[in-house]
Amino acid sequence: MKIIAGNWKMNGTRANLIDMVTALQKVDTENNVILCVPYTMLGVKSDRNISLGAQDVSAHDHGAYTGEVSASMIADSGAKYVIVGHSERRQYHNETNDTVRQKAAAALSAGLTPIICVGETMEEKQAGKTMEIIESGVRESIPNDIDKNIIVAYEPRWAIGAGLTPTSEEIAEAHKLIADTLTAMGLSGTPVLYGASVKGSNAAEIMSIENVDGVLVGGASLKPDDFIPIITSVK
Ligand code: PEP
Repeated sequence: MKIIAGNWKMNGTRANLIDMVTALQKVDTENNVILCVPYTMLGVKSDRNISLGAQDVSAHDHGAYTGEVSASMIADSGAKYVIVGHSERRQYHNETNDTVRQKAAAALSAGLTPIICVGETMEEKQAGKTMEIIESGVRESIPNDIDKNIIVAYEPRWAIGAGLTPTSEEIAEAHKLIADTLTAMGLSGTPVLYGASVKGSNAAEIMSIENVDGVLVGGASLKPDDFIPIITSVK
């Protein structure tokens, strides 16, 4: 069983989500399918095989934080997951590992599973800092003293939406480091997803790499014709 999570970013309508859920209900799969959609679509009815998630969460529980949405509100919509620390949040909203850790803690306290993203920029990759950034991302973005109700996503930031993917060896090396770091933190068994330019044609190969427990998919999660081949590429 793999986890196949879609990130719709700021795309789509409720009607698009209903069409996607209807299409996914016909897919014979044991994989855990998650769709992380804009807040306005979170109330759309899905079924037990398809869970909904948000793409960001406030670190605060309630109060005078205009425009923010809390973890308990996301949980109240019926959603089960929330992405935290996506590279676009880190890039456009200056989120740091500290911010991400606070948001992940807020998600956990409302009973949501945070999908915690880490990954290096092109600049960091070129400076030979990939492993350092990944390890500090994992260590600093995950709250202390938690149960295992988290998912980690490795997303090389330079590859997101760019049609680029690291080599299988690079993915294997990054995922081994993440798995070892999680073990050292007492969180062995935490699922680790790979994300960045996953599509039907590379999904099976990526998910066959050791320590890759699933994928986080951006652009190719928007249309059933692109997303379903990813879901069915693995048992
Ligand atoms: C993402 O936004 O998390 C992502 C992986 O995007 P894409 O698949 O489009 O590279």
